[in-house]
Amino acid sequence: MAEVALTMTSVRSASKSPGSPLQYIKGIGPKRSAALEAMGLRSVKDLLYYFPRDYLDRRTIVKIADLRRWISGENAGRKESVTVIGEVFRKEARRSRRSNRIVLFITLKDDSGYLQCVWFEGVQWYKDAFEVGELLAVSSIPQADKLGRPQFVHPEFDRLRGALEEDEPDWGKLFNTGSIIPKYPSTAELQKIGLDSRGFRRILRQAVSRHIDEIGDPLPEEIKRLANLVDLRRAIASIHFPANPADLEAARRRIKFDELFYFQLMLALRKRALKTQMPGISFRVESQLARQLVDSLPFQLTSSQRKVIKEITEDMKSDKPMNRLLQGDVGSGKTIVALLAMLLAVDNGYQAAFMAPTEILAEQHARTLRSFLGQLPVRFRLLIGGQRKKLREEILEDIRSGGAQIVVGTHALLEQNVEFAKLGLVVIDEQHRFGVLQRSELRQKGTNPDVLVMTATPIPRSLALTLYGDLDVSVIDELPANRKPIKTAVRLEEQKQKVFDFVREEVKRGRQAYIVFPLIEESEKVDLKAAVAEYERLQKEVFPEFRLGLLHGRMKTEEKDEVMSRFKDGAYQILVATTVIEVGIDIPNATVMIIENAERFGLSQLHQLRGRVGRGADQSYCILIADYAWFDRRRKGEDGQTVLVEKQNARKRLETMVETTDGFRIAEVDLELRGPGEVFGTKQSGLPQFKLANLVRDGELLTLARKSAFRLIDSDPHLRLPSNAGLRQEFERQYAQLLNFASVG
Ligand code: ADP
Ligand code: MG
Repeated sequence: MAEVALTMTSVRSASKSPGSPLQYIKGIGPKRSAALEAMGLRSVKDLLYYFPRDYLDRRTIVKIADLRRWISGENAGRKESVTVIGEVFRKEARRSRRSNRIVLFITLKDDSGYLQCVWFEGVQWYKDAFEVGELLAVSSIPQADKLGRPQFVHPEFDRLRGALEEDEPDWGKLFNTGSIIPKYPSTAELQKIGLDSRGFRRILRQAVSRHIDEIGDPLPEEIKRLANLVDLRRAIASIHFPANPADLEAARRRIKFDELFYFQLMLALRKRALKTQMPGISFRVESQLARQLVDSLPFQLTSSQRKVIKEITEDMKSDKPMNRLLQGDVGSGKTIVALLAMLLAVDNGYQAAFMAPTEILAEQHARTLRSFLGQLPVRFRLLIGGQRKKLREEILEDIRSGGAQIVVGTHALLEQNVEFAKLGLVVIDEQHRFGVLQRSELRQKGTNPDVLVMTATPIPRSLALTLYGDLDVSVIDELPANRKPIKTAVRLEEQKQKVFDFVREEVKRGRQAYIVFPLIEESEKVDLKAAVAEYERLQKEVFPEFRLGLLHGRMKTEEKDEVMSRFKDGAYQILVATTVIEVGIDIPNATVMIIENAERFGLSQLHQLRGRVGRGADQSYCILIADYAWFDRRRKGEDGQTVLVEKQNARKRLETMVETTDGFRIAEVDLELRGPGEVFGTKQSGLPQFKLANLVRDGELLTLARKSAFRLIDSDPHLRLPSNAGLRQEFERQYAQLLNFASVG
């Protein structure tokens, strides 16, 4: 199932495109058609799907004389970009007295006045680029110059050269009639052969007026009606040449819907194929072991935990293979749920595998299981890299013979020589760290075992439907009752002494603390050295009265294990660590989390780290030490914009941490700041690349598309009905190779 998602983008771009060849269009000769083909545009139909990157909208076109309103009038302070259309009247590069740099001034003129545009960078290039007398559209947020007159600084611009040719709109008229003009993406190469924004405008005008019917509209009327969608031909025509803003909005909505719909259709087919074509294991026997375990727990399961356990056991008892995602914020108690499911497998005579993303975590799971299982007669094994050869052989044999009933491990479990006697259940912890690919690899080690994927990354629903669209989802949406919300604060470098005093107080009261240092790949060596040096300093100079442990990824497995168990036993009061402790570590007595250089961490990483405390009944604290100046220092020399954005983002990340402990809210902000591709790593997550649809912002439309797609597959599982023929064809075109997996027809 994973392969599908991974190959998707390549499949789509390699797909064949029926329809008229490009050269049917006047103005596209061999040269241009070759250039377009190199971009993946092979037919007129492909060309019609080459969408504008932006529009010139009359609503934002302003007469120069009216710009004053943005400086001192009713629009002052409104940070909105406006557009002016004017002729280049004068160009002048001169040295600025203030900055002693060469600055370019270009004066534009329209029938109401003159506007100065200023460039500080690329002066020579812009000076050569514009000709006196040429028509430009410039867009910017109006600013005031020294004398309080409006000016544009580094405006965006479009050249409207040749605007009055017959197949181009008359700009004067346009200004009054109010059409919206598309702006197309182009490159220097394309511009050389006349395919600048205007060039594209010309060929697209033809493509739309003469060939729009090649598009057709495969979507069933019923779906269009229910989802309130415009016809596809109309949408494609309008996305290029919208009559008005509402028309454009309807067009965008339709096209986004299609992108989401075909993707959901693929997921619906896959899900159906998994459910119907491969019989799974039907676990029949009630689990005595699970009952005993629940009775022996020192706490009551939350009602959320009980609800998801019920969902999972129902799946396991059915003869359809389980594909379930268990979602629950950090500390919500997923491990015990997984263990109960594993015991059900064991009591039915099957083996269960529990896969964790890191060795530290696998070891911790093994420790947890050991303590939960206590006296229960269950044999379990830990398999990780770096175990001695003899021990490893022994473990492998134990797995092969079926002696090991539960096997906990890292991706070492995926290796060729790991053979299970009778694998019935696979649990994958912290899914987002694994590629989707690994999910299916582990599955292949059994005869269609049930699969439970657990994640602590709370994913907004819309995204979960996409990332895990072929899985059923269970959510633990409450924390155990004894938890107090963690108190979070940001402190500056200069205030660290006070922070350490606070740590000292807490430790004296019998609590434990983490002090975490960032370790990022690009500067790993330096970071590690800094962390180790700081550990030594903390031990000697700051906390000589306590024992401090050090934990980082470069240590040997046994060393790590040793440090962790000492911290757990309370032999260490403070654990200095790099981000290796990010996921899963569970030590309820640790109540203080200090994060150094917190501005360098991502939001979900901060949330995960904070989740290491607040796991018991005591009040916990998370203190984020920030050095705002760090960004300025590190990024100096690069372009100023990035620094600013990153600095703002860092601030937003820290503020969000202070404001909320709600994992869903945090995930949302994270997605806003970084986008889904970054958050999940597009390649490994198998997220599709849409042209228009945005998984975060278009959640509602996604839900609609998903419902429509799943309903359609329910009523016509193989898309065989004549009324769905067009749909099937379009689907095959987009997702050609994936059909094998989905087993349509
Ligand atoms: P996560 O969902 O982050 O993996 P864990 O499974 O590690 O969370 O659970 C966090 C802590 O809460 C563990 O110490 C676990 O034993 C404890 N715990 C789990 N369920 C409950 C419960 N219902 N009541 C109280 N404590 C619980
Ligand atoms: Mg966990």
